[in-house]
Amino acid sequence: KITPAKRMQALPEQFFAALVAKANARAATGSDVINLGQGNPDLPTPRNIVERLKTASENPLYHKYPPFRGFAFLKQAVAERYKADYGVELHPETEVAVLFGGKSGLVEISQIYLDPGDVCLVPDPGYPDYWSGVALAGGEMCFMPLKEKNGFLPDYDAVPSGALDRAKLMFLNYPNNPTAATATPEFYERTVAFARKHGIVVASDFAYGAIGFDDQRPVSFLETPGAKEVGVEFYTLSKTYNMAGWRVGFAVGNAAIIEQINLIQDHMYCSLFGGIQEAAAEALTGPQQSVRELVATYESRRNALYAALDEIGWIAPKPAGSFFCWLPIAKGHTSMSFANLLLEQADVVVAPGSGFGDSGEGYVRLGLLTSEERLREVAARVGRLGLF
Ligand code: PLP
Repeated sequence: KITPAKRMQALPEQFFAALVAKANARAATGSDVINLGQGNPDLPTPRNIVERLKTASENPLYHKYPPFRGFAFLKQAVAERYKADYGVELHPETEVAVLFGGKSGLVEISQIYLDPGDVCLVPDPGYPDYWSGVALAGGEMCFMPLKEKNGFLPDYDAVPSGALDRAKLMFLNYPNNPTAATATPEFYERTVAFARKHGIVVASDFAYGAIGFDDQRPVSFLETPGAKEVGVEFYTLSKTYNMAGWRVGFAVGNAAIIEQINLIQDHMYCSLFGGIQEAAAEALTGPQQSVRELVATYESRRNALYAALDEIGWIAPKPAGSFFCWLPIAKGHTSMSFANLLLEQADVVVAPGSGFGDSGEGYVRLGLLTSEERLREVAARVGRLGLF
């Protein structure tokens, strides 16, 4: 009899896989579905990056196994980008690890730091892949509620002491998915002090690190004095350069943690195709005008959507960063029943807040992942339901 290992039973169903299946089933009935559910950028990868892959794919050097830990030129490019954007110095060989998107590292970090019974502090609501990593490692999760009144930042004083004693790892994610909140330097200073005091590794997920609105540049955790002593940051090209399908990301920061991430990758993969590494270096060191345009596009989409939502009485604070909108649901609903209602009666796909944790109940997440016209259409369709 073939049975999977017990750890597989701890894995929840992949939330977005279920959401995508539901949206596709609806679209297959011929409905004009507007899908704002999954965080899949709708804009194309900038041309210079695509062209670089085309020429690089001809290089016979890349047709062989790449170096285990990635080409030096790519790690150098990551260090240059961090220096230019955040003023953070990184040693390319010891403080940068090349990953398959941010996701591979975000799952592996739990394997590295959690033994069965160890605790991981996880933001609630939060990106569900943190849970999968902890589940596979046999760790326990202690959720840190992100409350609107605290700017969606966790309150470290509220972490129960029983969990704190066993805590080894903590995830943070700003600009935040799903709440669209951003972090302050003061919050990160508190984080470094908290992590030092309790011996906790900080995993800062900076997937939306380039996307801050109203001229506010998002803060990297690594800008904080002492951050490199306690943690690493996961940085990905998926959102900044519309490269979600290319699967390129990095971990940067504490050299001992980076070494462990590289070690686990040595055993599981042999790094990315060299052509993709060259194109990724082009993204990081080539012209950054496309990034400025991308942020401006999301910002004007945000403004268009929130103006239209205002008109129908669906009121919420505007996102500060990321490309998500975190909106309260109509009275008398759960986030799931509300999301189902929008799908069935307005052909609009949104992600129910409860999919991101118990504290996400009461909200839905919308991605700014279609044109302003279609976003206004979303507001019009929801307005016709007369819920607000
Ligand atoms: N972290 C967050 C918060 C995300 O929203 C995503 C993708 O949606 C990821 C990490 C993973 O990104 P990737 O693996 O494409 O780099």
